[in-house]
Amino acid sequence: MKYKSFYLIDKIIDSLKKQFPKKCSCGKEFKDFKEFIENTSLPAPQNLQIFDCDDVHEVLSLRNCNNCNSTIAIRCALDDIDKKVLLDLIKEDIKINNIEEDEFLQILRNEVLSCAKKKLNINNENSQK
Ligand SMILES: [Zn+2]
Repeated sequence: MKYKSFYLIDKIIDSLKKQFPKKCSCGKEFKDFKEFIENTSLPAPQNLQIFDCDDVHEVLSLRNCNNCNSTIAIRCALDDIDKKVLLDLIKEDIKINNIEEDEFLQILRNEVLSCAKKKLNINNENSQK
């Protein structure tokens, strides 16, 4: 594995899956995580950052509803221990590889998405990353 924090990706994806069905403020309902990914897109490039010691996850999961364009956040429901491990590994990855925090979080987010797509059998052709 290229980065240490990647080993928690399966857990992250499982914790995301548990939060469905979910409804957007426009009324659009996402039955499951697969439907959510297929019907939302990444917002315009953002500056990603670790907000405080406990939460990087909301940043990882922000997407825009394709129906109304509002931003929907899904929380990462990792338990506290895993969260702490994830954050420590992210910090290590950033340090060891000498990557900017923002840049690394984009890499991690892309990896979470691409793993989720593989697991959920989502065709990459007509959906953006
Ligand atoms: Zn919506």
